[in-house]
Amino acid sequence: MPHIKPKATPIFQTSVFTFDDLNELELYFEQPGQRYMYSRYANPNSDELANEVNKLEGGVGAIVTSSGMSAILTAILAICKAGDHVLCAEEIYGGSAALLTQELSRIGIEVTYVPSEATYSFDELVKPNTRLFLAETMSNPLLMVFDIKRLATETHKHNIKLVIDNTFATPIVTKPLGLGADIVIHSVTKYLSGHSDVTAGVVICMAEEDLQRVQKVMLTYGLNLSPFESWLAARGLKTLRLRMKQHCTNAQTIAEFLQGHPKVEQVWYPGLHKHPQHQLAKEQGSGLYGGMLSFRIKDDKEAVNRFMQGLKHIPFAPSLAGVSTSISYPLGTSHRALTPEQQQKIGITAGVIRLSVGIEEDEELLTDLVRGLAKI
Ligand SMILES: *Cc1c(COP(=O)(O)O)cnc(C)c1O
Repeated sequence: MPHIKPKATPIFQTSVFTFDDLNELELYFEQPGQRYMYSRYANPNSDELANEVNKLEGGVGAIVTSSGMSAILTAILAICKAGDHVLCAEEIYGGSAALLTQELSRIGIEVTYVPSEATYSFDELVKPNTRLFLAETMSNPLLMVFDIKRLATETHKHNIKLVIDNTFATPIVTKPLGLGADIVIHSVTKYLSGHSDVTAGVVICMAEEDLQRVQKVMLTYGLNLSPFESWLAARGLKTLRLRMKQHCTNAQTIAEFLQGHPKVEQVWYPGLHKHPQHQLAKEQGSGLYGGMLSFRIKDDKEAVNRFMQGLKHIPFAPSLAGVSTSISYPLGTSHRALTPEQQQKIGITAGVIRLSVGIEEDEELLTDLVRGLAKI
């Protein structure tokens, strides 16, 4: 066979790897990381994706998983056992809250939600069995920005691990490990893969012992990512930096446009001067503010419907972070399960629309938004 040196990584679509003899099998155990055995344990495509994300986040290593949810599960199970206690930011992805409240509670891991006003002063909520604090760099859908350095100082004071879901920011905007976080997770489904064609997750660790635990949980519970999905995500990741720059500049343009539009009552985007954490976002994000924004038109579902129907190019899709722009409706999707009082308290009312700004020409997007807003 000729010597093959492909520029792109081939897809190792195999569940298992072969050994010449027992001597080679012994080498697998004696020289870890030099050979592959079984794709649930490790696969070259999964390793490539994990290594590339790890380089961007600046950890000691990373493990990829079958979804963002399994990444969160892996991180929590790596640290916590039955009888332990988790602190979780009140403004958190709905799936993370469901995992903690509905499932992990059944196996003896308890959770306390930290209200946003107590984010940096949660001493009273800490118990002797508190093991970790879970929060997001930017919250969904109102883009509240967390001060990771400050949060790390507070958690480490109590010997609690800080786990940050960095899905919305990406390492192009913020690198939580460099600010003191212990573990970072992502829904790779979103910006890291970026093309709305993969479901995947990743866990990146700052300490070797955490990485060992994360790997053990991933392979024992069978939370691994398939070779093909790993390959697709690694392919998408190659353009992350370019995509994020365009997501961010488009989002800034659109946020400013919406802010000045008579039919828009409020805009939430960290890049706007009047955003409550604008200065923090500026420092923590090195001048980039991400591709997600939310805005409120009048609190009337019918007006929202007319706006959506008026858009020609921007579809409604209850996910985010793809190369093409989409809108979502938090009240009808992510925040559907909350009571009207809870919705009112956090500010998610009938007129709030979330925009995942893509990488199209900004003119195209503005034209479509003008069209939609004219229908209200
Ligand atoms: C989508 C999302 C998740 C869950 O990821 P999946 O890939 O859908 O399992 C977790 N956290 C955040 C912030 C998300 O947006």
